[in-house]
Amino acid sequence: MSVRVVARIRPLLEKELDKDVIVTADRAQDGKPLTIVKIPSPKNEAEEFSFAFNSVYDQATTQEELFTAEVAPHLKALFQGYDVTIFAYGVTGTGKTHTMRGGLKLAERGVIPRLLSNVFRRGKKLAKDSNGETTVDVALSYYEIYNDKVFDLLEPPEKRTPSGLPLREKDGKTMVVGLSERTCEDLKDFEKLYIEANNNRVTAATKLNAHSSRSHAILRVKVTQTTGDMVRESTASAIDLAGSEDNRRTDNGKERLIESAAINKSLFVLSQCIDAISRGDKRIPYRESKMTRILSLGQNNGITIMILNLAPIRSYHLDTISSLNVSSRAKRIEVREIENEVVFKQLPRSTVGLGGPNVIRQPLR
Ligand code: ADP
Ligand code: MG
Repeated sequence: MSVRVVARIRPLLEKELDKDVIVTADRAQDGKPLTIVKIPSPKNEAEEFSFAFNSVYDQATTQEELFTAEVAPHLKALFQGYDVTIFAYGVTGTGKTHTMRGGLKLAERGVIPRLLSNVFRRGKKLAKDSNGETTVDVALSYYEIYNDKVFDLLEPPEKRTPSGLPLREKDGKTMVVGLSERTCEDLKDFEKLYIEANNNRVTAATKLNAHSSRSHAILRVKVTQTTGDMVRESTASAIDLAGSEDNRRTDNGKERLIESAAINKSLFVLSQCIDAISRGDKRIPYRESKMTRILSLGQNNGITIMILNLAPIRSYHLDTISSLNVSSRAKRIEVREIENEVVFKQLPRSTVGLGGPNVIRQPLR
């Protein structure tokens, strides 16, 4: 499996209607889907750069269209025991939060509420179709990485320890030690939790976007399917990364600069990981930031979708080019499917040994 990398170009905002559009979507050939992003060279306007992606979504793309095309197809794999990771990367103000969280109106809902809605629906159907033999439990964790420290967003800010929560490797996966987990019965449950948790998120103003979030936010949806003595556990992670802009251009104050250094460092490490993996290096510098340890690109068992968010206008020009460079290299990452603790014996022979879904056989107590 490989990392799927797609780009989404947002529409002009009301205050930008008089601005020049410099980022456009294109297709390799007539009749083919959009896969190319074009942008002029900052040094020579007559020259145009092209970046290829697995898919490109232009400003007309709705939230529903993006979800249906990029996320819905992986729900089946999630329920088969594979982990699914969706992350939004891009400069502040390009639509990461819009893509992941979205607005309150039904049509404006982003990937996260749609994902949850689909998980609940599928889970209920599975339980019903099995005549109650299979039960499906959904549990949420939600945390942020701020200045390379992990904070639980399901806990009120007063309960934070200054150093944050530690990470630990377990069964080849990076876990956050002491992270809380809440079971959710339905979308209403989820929404209540999610709104509460988002209010706990650290936000601060920058010159680029007054409400830009300076932290990486990670929502983890754990799906546990139990049939008799068999427990199958898989997780969908939805990650809204902090802005990838170069802070030297955003005129930050001192505190913002400390944040920016940590944000830029983790995103820099991410770009180095992407480069190292795409080059086929043995040593991938995952361990150099908490975000990359958690994301463990190319290491996790399952499916990863990177959504590159882009703003179409000139004021983002240099940052847009740098994010296009990073993400178009990510396309070359091959994801290894890692074998889990116990090999599922019933799997067809050809898939045994190649790794497979998360299946844990354990007696129910
Ligand atoms: P980021 O999280 O990357 O900083 P936001 O998601 O906050 O960016 O988006 C910046 C602004 O652009 C917000 O006002 C948001 O509502 C708007 N926006 C982003 N993407 C879209 C879109 N596809 N359609 C309409 N508005 C969008
Ligand atoms: Mg945001």
